[in-house]
Amino acid sequence: MSDSIIRIENLHKSYITGKNSLHVLKGIDIDIKAGEMVSIMGSSGSGKSTLLNIFGILDNYDEGGYYLNDILISKMSETKAARFRNKYIGFIFQSFNLISFKTALENVALPLYYQNVNRKKRNAIAMEYLDRMGLKEWSNHLPSEMSGGQKQRVAIARALISNPKVILADEPTGALDTKTSYEVMEILQEVNNTGITVIIVTHETDIAQCTERIIRLKDGIIEANEYVTNPAIEVVNG
Ligand code: ADP
Ligand code: MG
Repeated sequence: MSDSIIRIENLHKSYITGKNSLHVLKGIDIDIKAGEMVSIMGSSGSGKSTLLNIFGILDNYDEGGYYLNDILISKMSETKAARFRNKYIGFIFQSFNLISFKTALENVALPLYYQNVNRKKRNAIAMEYLDRMGLKEWSNHLPSEMSGGQKQRVAIARALISNPKVILADEPTGALDTKTSYEVMEILQEVNNTGITVIIVTHETDIAQCTERIIRLKDGIIEANEYVTNPAIEVVNG
């Protein structure tokens, strides 16, 4: 056993469309320890989402190895992948991915529905998570009635409800203004402080500076891996 929660070795991934093959990840090594807060940076098209989707077992890789909690993740059935995801992973997306016709409470409770938790119990637990996000009063609102920051907090509550070991966030502040972005980063830091590993894909330097370590992707390889000396959130007024 190591203290790695996410480890990839010489990882390769290509997309094949018709006769064309696009080599997106060209032999990447990353080792993320349990409890780390890491950002992955790189320009648009550099393979950030591809990498995060492999971490989340939403996509396969071609060569090399991916170990989640020291377990080799290779091609597996969708049922088995879903079981791993439920046990280890919570996702957060730029566009929130909330279900538009369900209330905040129902959205947060949804993962528990799939775990066959009865309605009364899952709603009670969902309310606790909404309360943690400061959204108790918004439980009966639809996503369309909430601000971007509130929607992302609902999405974070939904990601946390199944007690994941890792949060994977793909451009979580990409649709938010600066002040709201920092609020979301502050929440993610609090989540990380509870011991959950947080991995954030971003192309914004100031967002990456809120994490402990920055991994830079370029042309399919890791260009740099740097530790942030003082991960800080600038206080933005007004
Ligand atoms: P990023 O998140 O860094 O912007 P992506 O991982 O989304 O980059 O994409 C990396 C490259 O792979 C891009 O050139 C993109 O067009 C291509 N790509 C992504 N997904 C697919 C797919 N499903 N099929 C074919 N090409 C894809
Ligand atoms: Mg992307």
